[in-house]
Amino acid sequence: MQDKEGTASGTRIAVELNSVKGFFFDTINTLSAPVDKRILQDALDQCAFYNDLLSKTVPGSDVHRINNAAGKPVQISAHTARIIEVALDIGRQSKGALNIALEPLIRLWDVRAQNPRVPKESEIQEAMRGSDLSLIELDGQTIRVPEDMSVDLGGIAKGYIADRIADYLRSRGVNSALLNLGGNVVTVGKRPDGQLWSIGLQSPEGLSGVEYFAVVSSSDNSVVTSGVYERGFDLDGVRYHHILDPRSGYPVSNGVVSVTAIGSESLMADALTTAMFVLGKNAGEQLAARYGYQCVFRMADGSISYTDGLSIKLLA
Ligand code: ADP
Ligand code: MG
Repeated sequence: MQDKEGTASGTRIAVELNSVKGFFFDTINTLSAPVDKRILQDALDQCAFYNDLLSKTVPGSDVHRINNAAGKPVQISAHTARIIEVALDIGRQSKGALNIALEPLIRLWDVRAQNPRVPKESEIQEAMRGSDLSLIELDGQTIRVPEDMSVDLGGIAKGYIADRIADYLRSRGVNSALLNLGGNVVTVGKRPDGQLWSIGLQSPEGLSGVEYFAVVSSSDNSVVTSGVYERGFDLDGVRYHHILDPRSGYPVSNGVVSVTAIGSESLMADALTTAMFVLGKNAGEQLAARYGYQCVFRMADGSISYTDGLSIKLLA
């Protein structure tokens, strides 16, 4: 229980979970914990700060300044520097599957648009020029990106923010919480009744009934899922979704419908899910293992595979 100052009293009483919801980063974020709602609201308020720091469309954000610096060095916050450091590392380790310099291509496809369209091949080729990650120079909190390049942290920022919100809640004495930032789930401690948290992995068919295909048990951990069903559009029977293959310039089409990464840091798990999606099952599983993360792949033929030893219950 929490007193009014938000310090932990240490007693475990049967308490109800309170929840707050907010729409940031183009998605619904839900924070739940057996504490006063004001603490959760304070945590949610921090999402606005991170949105204004990391969104490429907010003038003055770190990412906006990077993308408008015309090749000059830019000073960025330690938050942004850390996210980009991990992005560049996983970018290299995944042979460019995770590529934060794919921004022009992401903008071209614009799968969230009101009337999305399939771009012309020539437009795709043009947008892919200037996506060479090795040209980005990051030195501490100074970054230099060539003039004809721009970055998009959409594939990893939410993971980092989820980690920071969990830290914030811990600093306010919260020892039990469940955070869900649009599929980036972080658990703080165990459930108020002392059990592990159960995290449902959303079914691709979720839209039409079956909500989850599996449940993963978690405590002080991160469970991050990316799926083709999340954002995208259908045209002439083809699904065009939001994870793009940097090699082809088209939405990934390798039979993967959802990828989950499980491990201590949500930033890492988020970066890995996007990379693993592009790499496909075998290379994706190897990448996760290299970083000590567990994973679940769900394929279009309905098959499910996961890391040995993962605490998972299949429902479908
Ligand atoms: P979400 O939780 O929004 O589904 P993901 O972690 O699945 O996010 O990342 C998808 C987002 O990452 C896209 O909306 C786009 O902004 C960006 N993106 C798409 N393809 C890539 C890629 N190959 N490398 C890096 N970022 C990408
Ligand atoms: Mg991701």
